[in-house]
Amino acid sequence: MAVGGSAPARRALQKGRLMPTLGPKMAVLAWGLLVGSVSIAGDRPADRPHDRGTRGTAEEPGTSQSTGRGQDVRISWARARGHVSIVIDDVGRERLLQERLRHLPYRLTFSVLPDAVETHRAQRRLLQDPQRPREIWLHLPMEPLGATAMVRGPEQRENFLLATDSPAALRSKIERALRQVPTAVGVNNHMGSRLTADAAAMLVVMGVLRERGLYFLDSRTTADTVAESVAHEMGVPVGHRHVFLDHNPSRSAIDNALQDAAEVSLTEPTVVIGHPRKHLVDALTDWLPTLQARGIGVYPLSELLRQGGTTRESRLRVTTPSYTSKSSRP
Ligand SMILES: [Zn+2]
Repeated sequence: MAVGGSAPARRALQKGRLMPTLGPKMAVLAWGLLVGSVSIAGDRPADRPHDRGTRGTAEEPGTSQSTGRGQDVRISWARARGHVSIVIDDVGRERLLQERLRHLPYRLTFSVLPDAVETHRAQRRLLQDPQRPREIWLHLPMEPLGATAMVRGPEQRENFLLATDSPAALRSKIERALRQVPTAVGVNNHMGSRLTADAAAMLVVMGVLRERGLYFLDSRTTADTVAESVAHEMGVPVGHRHVFLDHNPSRSAIDNALQDAAEVSLTEPTVVIGHPRKHLVDALTDWLPTLQARGIGVYPLSELLRQGGTTRESRLRVTTPSYTSKSSRP
């Protein structure tokens, strides 16, 4: 299997090309002291996609320790009562909200759009703190059902994979996008209600991902998606989105979605997707400490997929309750 996308990030960090900064979060220390089951430990760059079972077990169960500034609140996988990955989509379109999200002392996952105004700067910022690098995914634009959605607003900049593209054209677009987000450990779809329902196109996509040892996360923008099943057939490690946090962008709706996610995470590893919006950032800022206090850990998406399993029998494959079908935001 090909080397995972996190290796360039590690090399860049080792060579000191990315300037470290301190991200003081005194609140983290307070949490570590208040919540007995929470450990605070340094983060490290994501492992290769297919390394399994190598992360999240360093903390001693039931211990609490504060190791200084610029570190994340963590719960070991084995110790946690629930497991959640929080994926921030559409990264690269703006800076301020992304920066607030980056500074949260939890291991959020950031899916970066190619061809966006901040595509490259966003990645540099996400990797800039060697104590708290954030996992990066590629947010790959895929054809939605309505063609007009591809030519409105920021989508005009984007180079969508189309169902009418030849296999060679699809491959070329994917490779071009990956060159723009070279440290991505996996790919999820931006929009894509038409393309993810197209088995022939998904075969091409998964073929490229398999060659490169990358994960796929099906954002599930349509109930007709075949992305996850094709990924399984092709041997690509895969999971799917359980809850869209901000399909309805009101604060109360986001709070409700977060509650849903917390409940589900107690029964299966849960993937949630949100977007850089003020209400979402505010809600996560308030909510993450309460999640931690309930013993629910936040994990980089690749870790959740590894620990939760990515085989056909995976718990991530279990058909989930009604909330999974109520939203379809790209
Ligand atoms: Zn998107």
